[in-house]
Amino acid sequence: MTNGTLPQLRLRKGKEESLDRFHPWVFSGALTRMPSEADGIEEGDLVSVVASDGRVIGTGHFQIGSIAVRMLTFDASEAIDADFYRRRLAQALSLRRAIGLPSPDTDAYRLVHGEGDFLPGLVVDVYGPTAVVQAHSPGMHYARKTIADALVGLPGAGIDNVYYKSETTLPFKARLDPRNDYIAGAYAGDTASENGLVFHVDWLKGQKTGFFVDQRENRQLLRSLSHGRRVLNMFCYTGGFSVYALSGGAEEVVSVDSSAKAITLTDANVALNFPEGAPHRSYAEDAFKFLDTMEKDAYDLILLDPPAFAKHRSALHNALQGYRRLNARAFEKIAPGGILFTFSCSQAVTREQFRLAVFSAAAASRRRVRILHQLTQPADHPVNIYHPEGEYLKGLVLYVE
Ligand code: SAH
Repeated sequence: MTNGTLPQLRLRKGKEESLDRFHPWVFSGALTRMPSEADGIEEGDLVSVVASDGRVIGTGHFQIGSIAVRMLTFDASEAIDADFYRRRLAQALSLRRAIGLPSPDTDAYRLVHGEGDFLPGLVVDVYGPTAVVQAHSPGMHYARKTIADALVGLPGAGIDNVYYKSETTLPFKARLDPRNDYIAGAYAGDTASENGLVFHVDWLKGQKTGFFVDQRENRQLLRSLSHGRRVLNMFCYTGGFSVYALSGGAEEVVSVDSSAKAITLTDANVALNFPEGAPHRSYAEDAFKFLDTMEKDAYDLILLDPPAFAKHRSALHNALQGYRRLNARAFEKIAPGGILFTFSCSQAVTREQFRLAVFSAAAASRRRVRILHQLTQPADHPVNIYHPEGEYLKGLVLYVE
């Protein structure tokens, strides 16, 4: 379909402003009228977005919800076809090449970070020869085969297999019937490397795409600060931070996650990197309970990387309280001269709000606390400058006396 024949959705007067600044979302309230099936427009369809004066702004994927259109292009003449996906993926790979990914040390990286790669609704993580694709919009779900072909054909990417994993990320999933499965190639091993360490990545059953590639650089920093320290890795999931701490010469590492499956993965990853054994223990336990019952001064490096406490803005207040409570316990218990790594991956929580929550937790402990580093997501999770919402990972490294 050429763009001229796409159904048009018209904006209300004055609602062009954010789109003229290339923000890629059209909210339903900005449209003169939300289309229905009677208009012949269905979820996932390509639509042309038109200003109130009739000017064509660009093309996007339509969906039912508060975000009605996710813009794919602001060039009215650019067709959304197989070539479009090939071009966008090649641009995404160029950026990764520019920052040294993949490398002989690291073959786990994010190739597509949604809006950050001008492909709203699409996430692609690469683990060696396998790409794991997540669609967050019906439009990307319908385009999945085209995307898989483009990934396998992407020159220099070395991708042979594409695993599609969108059962939990798509809205209205009953109607779309997304099935997690290989849509190109097949299973070809489950290990990937990161900064010279190796990890089992369970894209079949694990959370997200199987591994949190967004902590790669922060894990590297933790490795450089671990020597001789007793390290507590809370919310360890696949044990990424634990393996780095051990490789950095930690005296002992304790990993905690409420999920028994996560503990099994952590133990397997420690064994994979240290077949001769390592000073590591792990516990399937609730983080708050563990922090409450553990001895004071038992650890001099504590890492807190909880799941997103606020998935939506409505949960913001409780989320901030959660961060405050969690961090307060760490400040109470960490040994003098200790280093606290603390994170929030909630998109709804701003950097400033997170800082304030951590500051008030610090103040409650009455300890002297200084900021050593302020952390964020790595460069393979780029933030589209017109879409600041794409910045989600926030971290602080604190020196606690
Ligand atoms: N730090 C990890 C990612 C953490 S994801 C990494 O680098 O890969 C969040 C983890 O928190 C999940 O594994 C989840 O099982 C765990 N979790 C959620 N609620 C918890 C709780 N109350 N106590 C302990 N772990 C919890």
